[in-house]
Amino acid sequence: MTKNNSSQSLKLPICNHEPAAYDGPSREEVLALRQQYVSPGVITYYKEPMMIVEGHMQYVFDETGKRYLDAFAGIVTISVGHCHPQVAEKVQQQVGRLQHTTTIYLHPAIAQFAEKLADKMPEGLDRSYFTNSGSEANEIAILSAREHTGNQQVIAVRNGYHGGTSTAMSLTAHGNWKFKSNQDAFVKHMHAGYCYRCPFGLEYPSCELKCAHDVKDLIQYETPGEVACFIGEPIQGVGGAVTPPPEYFSIIYDIVRQHGGICIADEVQGGFGRTGTHYWSHQNWDVVPDMVVMAKGIGNGVPLGGMTTTAEISKVMTNRVHFNTFGGNPVSMIQGMATLEVIDAEGIQENARVVGEHLKQRLTELQDKHQLIGDVRGMGLMLGVELVRDRKTKEPASSETAEVLEQAKERGLLLGKGGLHGNTLRIKPPMCITKDDADFMIECLDSILGGMHSSS
Ligand code: PMP
Repeated sequence: MTKNNSSQSLKLPICNHEPAAYDGPSREEVLALRQQYVSPGVITYYKEPMMIVEGHMQYVFDETGKRYLDAFAGIVTISVGHCHPQVAEKVQQQVGRLQHTTTIYLHPAIAQFAEKLADKMPEGLDRSYFTNSGSEANEIAILSAREHTGNQQVIAVRNGYHGGTSTAMSLTAHGNWKFKSNQDAFVKHMHAGYCYRCPFGLEYPSCELKCAHDVKDLIQYETPGEVACFIGEPIQGVGGAVTPPPEYFSIIYDIVRQHGGICIADEVQGGFGRTGTHYWSHQNWDVVPDMVVMAKGIGNGVPLGGMTTTAEISKVMTNRVHFNTFGGNPVSMIQGMATLEVIDAEGIQENARVVGEHLKQRLTELQDKHQLIGDVRGMGLMLGVELVRDRKTKEPASSETAEVLEQAKERGLLLGKGGLHGNTLRIKPPMCITKDDADFMIECLDSILGGMHSSS
């Protein structure tokens, strides 16, 4: 693998933001402190972990002042830009006025934010329960589904990711994220709509969506025939932007409902306009879920998650007393509300569509040029580029993907990776990026891939 030294010629698009001079502990000191005092389970990216000390819109800065285009958005969390001035101002005001009392007292922000979310949801989904993370929101979703239906069995999707708490880890279907001691026996996994690696070796549309119909067999063979729910990410995030065919979810939703279950869309990564075409990613499949789970991008960087469902289903949370100390706190609610306002006011969804289409088109052109690119997929600004060593065998190019990330960092570009074998580049930037930023990404990838493998 040869290193390409053309990185000098690549220039990030102009940005007028000057980062403040950094006067904190050095990167090495921070690393040493982390190694000594922070659990080794808190992972970092890169051979030499990088330190980021400032952010401005689609860019972040390390302690030396070097600027990077953040194409991973703090793992798909910064929706409208790092420290977006309008969001930051509102939250700063709130921090100075009141941070916390819990929901045992009234505060306007939780009620107003819930109203705003209901306004964005499919008809009838208008009761929200707020948490601090996506994992917790999924816990509430599954708990509610089980209480509502009286059934225990949950259907999730292979290659999916739903979090790291007990039930959420069980919903997750990547062996490397599943600890041996912590699995819920009532969660079953059906096949993903992963056409590039079809589990049945078929091709769309002649496959007749065998992957989706698989849920019927799963219910009949592995459950008592009645289920609590189905949960799926419309586009699998951690799984590497796996995007099922158009009929996939409607087939599953029908079968699951016939077996007593409700349907949950995990919109933690795909929501808030990221797919460009719709506000919610599930709308691209023309289905209406009974419950929507959110986190990450909903709050543009504060701990904020939530689950929204119907009035009827939401009642089950009164079956016992349930409480979440920080869920619905005024600071997160204000930040969530300000984020939603900016998404609307600045045409963020439309930008995701326009820049996303441009980026995907250019990635597809790169695929023609570089053999390593096996598949380009996703929608809007939720894109995946799967790297393979051989286009016929589709052998995952895992170490090459890690190397692309390293070299992209040197060039001033932060990317993510995902998929079972860590061989899919994940491109999910703040949705305020420009076409120039997209072109910069393409130039980076072109020069990196050109230096790694001979072009076809
Ligand atoms: N659902 C999805 C689709 C996710 O991508 C994630 C996080 N990667 C979660 C749930 C869990 O969210 P959190 O890390 O906030 O608990």
